[in-house]
Amino acid sequence: MRLVTVGVSGSFPGPESPASTYLVRVSAAEAAAAGCTGADVREWNVVLDLGSGGLGALQRHVDPLSLDGVALSHLHPDHCADLSGLYVYLRYHPTRGDARTGSSRQLPVYGPGSAAERAAAMYGMGPGESMDGVYDFRSWAPGRPVRLGPLELEPFTVFHPVEAYGFRVTGPSSVRPGERATLAYSGDTDSCAGLVDAARDADLFLCEAAFQEGRDDGIERGIHLTGRRAGRAAAEAGARRLLLTHVAAWSDPRVPLAEAREVYGGPVDVTVPGGEHEL
Ligand SMILES: [Zn+2]
Ligand SMILES: [Zn+2]
Repeated sequence: MRLVTVGVSGSFPGPESPASTYLVRVSAAEAAAAGCTGADVREWNVVLDLGSGGLGALQRHVDPLSLDGVALSHLHPDHCADLSGLYVYLRYHPTRGDARTGSSRQLPVYGPGSAAERAAAMYGMGPGESMDGVYDFRSWAPGRPVRLGPLELEPFTVFHPVEAYGFRVTGPSSVRPGERATLAYSGDTDSCAGLVDAARDADLFLCEAAFQEGRDDGIERGIHLTGRRAGRAAAEAGARRLLLTHVAAWSDPRVPLAEAREVYGGPVDVTVPGGEHEL
């Protein structure tokens, strides 16, 4: 499987990148090797968060009509705002939209329990209206992994001002044929047990590092990690590779990178928009 870091900017889109939007892809051959049969032997595309501006850059990599699922870490706009645009794309596409074909798509959207109401409100829907014909909203339940074709996604409760989850995504490895690989994603969080549990022995740990030691010490805990706190979580979890993300446009990514390297001995990098990582 492959991770594409479509949008990496923290908290709001930056001049070079949309906000948090990550695409996980599995090829048809990998799906077959993972035990998929029949119509499930095909390319799979699942989006982890769909933040502000993410739908635009996502189209460089995949036709949104080909998505197999959306997994939302939480409902801050920099992680879910483009559900509105995706709804328009799936419903009103000139030839293949639900409103043209008459058949409802019901793309699975996993998220916090209030995701359906929030998405409808963002789009301007009133009481009694919903996006149910296009989206099939499903609530995360910690300890209950969900399966999307060859991928398994397990949510872990993390430490943020709103209901928030990190994920552990397991799927067929692209670099070790016949084996499974694990991608861990922090969502937005401060240091917590759920973060370490999600990242345990992960092949790649995609972890936010929005804050900086010193600069942001006066802000209350329970919002974001620093590079140092992300590095500590990666070390404690035994993650094999650390990929820092969610750095805001006003921050220099070299700062969290240097902080993480002080406390984590494995390979560390910072996401770039459009970056690709084989697992
Ligand atoms: Zn965020
Ligand atoms: Zn957030």
